[in-house]
Amino acid sequence: MTETPFPHLFSPLKLGSVTVKNRIVSTGHEVGMADANGVSETMIAYHEARARGGAGLIIVEVALVHDSGVFVRHPIRAYSRDCVPGYTRLAETVHAHGCALFGQLFHPGREILETADGSQPVSYAPSAVPNERFHVLPTPMSADLIRDVILGYGIGAAHFKEAGLDGAEIVASHGYLPAQFLNPRVNLRDDEYGGSFDGRLRFIRDAVTEVRASVGRDFPLGLRISGNEASHDGLNNDEVVEICTALSADGGLDYFSVVAGSSATLSGSSHIVPPMYMDTGYTAPFAATIKQKVSQPVIATGRINQPQIAETIIGGGQADACGMTRAMICDPEMAGKAEAGRSDDIRACIGCNQACIGHFITGYPVSCIQHPETGRELTYGTRQPADKPRRILVAGGGPAGMKAAAVAAERGHDVTLYEGSDQLGGQTLLAQLLPHRAEFGGIVANLAREMELAGVPVKLGTTVDRALIESEAPDAVIIATGAGPRRPELEAGDGAQIVDAWQVLRNEVNVGASVVVADWSCNWIGIGMAEKLAQEGCRVRLCVNGYMPGWCVQQYIRDMSVGRLHKLGVEMIPYVRLHGADADTAYFEHTMSGEPVVLEDTDTLVLCSGHERATTLADELAEFEIEMHLAGDCNAPRTAEEAVLEGLKAGVAV
Ligand code: SF4
Repeated sequence: MTETPFPHLFSPLKLGSVTVKNRIVSTGHEVGMADANGVSETMIAYHEARARGGAGLIIVEVALVHDSGVFVRHPIRAYSRDCVPGYTRLAETVHAHGCALFGQLFHPGREILETADGSQPVSYAPSAVPNERFHVLPTPMSADLIRDVILGYGIGAAHFKEAGLDGAEIVASHGYLPAQFLNPRVNLRDDEYGGSFDGRLRFIRDAVTEVRASVGRDFPLGLRISGNEASHDGLNNDEVVEICTALSADGGLDYFSVVAGSSATLSGSSHIVPPMYMDTGYTAPFAATIKQKVSQPVIATGRINQPQIAETIIGGGQADACGMTRAMICDPEMAGKAEAGRSDDIRACIGCNQACIGHFITGYPVSCIQHPETGRELTYGTRQPADKPRRILVAGGGPAGMKAAAVAAERGHDVTLYEGSDQLGGQTLLAQLLPHRAEFGGIVANLAREMELAGVPVKLGTTVDRALIESEAPDAVIIATGAGPRRPELEAGDGAQIVDAWQVLRNEVNVGASVVVADWSCNWIGIGMAEKLAQEGCRVRLCVNGYMPGWCVQQYIRDMSVGRLHKLGVEMIPYVRLHGADADTAYFEHTMSGEPVVLEDTDTLVLCSGHERATTLADELAEFEIEMHLAGDCNAPRTAEEAVLEGLKAGVAV
């Protein structure tokens, strides 16, 4: 067997009594697939794909230790024996691929996202200190409730063990209940669970003791903790190091799993699933500060999207293993490819947050914009070979066309992709020019590699029309011709300079010193355009036809963007609908009051008005007898996520 280029990553690791085959961990993350019975068949299929792909350890998502902590509609309830059958099926499935499986013991305290019926919850925490993100004012826990919750950790661990899981992890990260006890600004108690450093540690120490009493010393038990909560009143790195040092010396834990951020604030929560704005591997230094002080192994997690980064972190002694969760949401086979030296074939996560955490927060199963098979394993997890290979012509080399071509070719078809311009990528080529979005272009490189592996020839600079279809005579056509910028009807006075975002990105216009960005889309383009122009020294007013800039974008992306816009002095004006412009003024009306909103001293009005379908080819072929499939923006202008998903569907349908 060829030697792996990542010797540290692919060496075994002992976590307590369990030896994990490599140091790649799918860390605990909610996949939005739990049902009323807890672990579902969709969830099992999801995790099986990562286990089959070579992950060493899967830590399955949080499971409640007590019913005072119900924080989503369908939590897994570790405290109820009903969880055991589902966990058992999951463990058997994952173990069949040589992958270890741990479970997470969880209580959110005041971090309540939603309730079963939509009413506001009664949430419990050490003290009545409010959460800033969900606007929850918790009720202080009674001594009896604390005791019950601690018992729940032991009961949950026993259920994990009974189900055949290999270990358990207490979730003290991200400002959840154990972290609330640890934090002197959140825990204001003066009883034995507060007051002093040891008082604040008592909750976790009691939970560890309870788990040990329940499952014994041999069952691996770890602690997940934020190395820095990155919030104004969160735990800082020095405090966390002191806490971990003390817990390590107690001897009840087998490893520490280090992340960053806190659920309690908007700024802290941006680190829970750090977007592409954060450097890759940026949490490793936090893990390193803890590793220096503890005797147990340390797992580092946070934007570790490539095996090269993980190898450097482990080889450099910053951590013993790496959480590569989104890396495997994006490419379930990442671990196996890395071990086999096929790094070029890895579909690297770009940190867009759109379909993974973006889906979960909005109540849907996690997926990936680059790999829509994720979360849909039961439908698209296995590529079905074509009954009969056919000749397929794909028109359009954006994400939809590229995915369609790769999938159809993988199924055995003879596929050729035509692109009218001289480059693959479509709108992605423009999107990557927005500030902090360069990594977005990774979609193109990844899909191009998928096409290459599937053997798809590409003809650039060739626009497909009916004549070409007639001469090539394919068996089926997949139309993925994308979209162009939409220009709404506006009242434009003499001398008005009205341009669209594409023109600005292509450097086709001089926008002057004072710009109004009219943002109908409320997505990346408006906030990115405002940031780009402000960085270039313009006075920028961002007028949003919605209730906040970027409201269609995943929360962490939006919040971090809004912070940067504020720092740059961009004036953000929500609830406005564009009417028109003249030589030096842009005219809006308030979407609710109907009152005019007049912005004088405007040199250029930049439109972010969405897109219009490019349907010329589809129209030309309307009367032509040929099997035809539409994918992506030529169907309806949306985002790269829908484009790639529809490319997958078209590639499967032909
Ligand atoms: Fe990564 Fe984006 Fe896929 Fe999430 S949706 S796994 S952030 S590429």
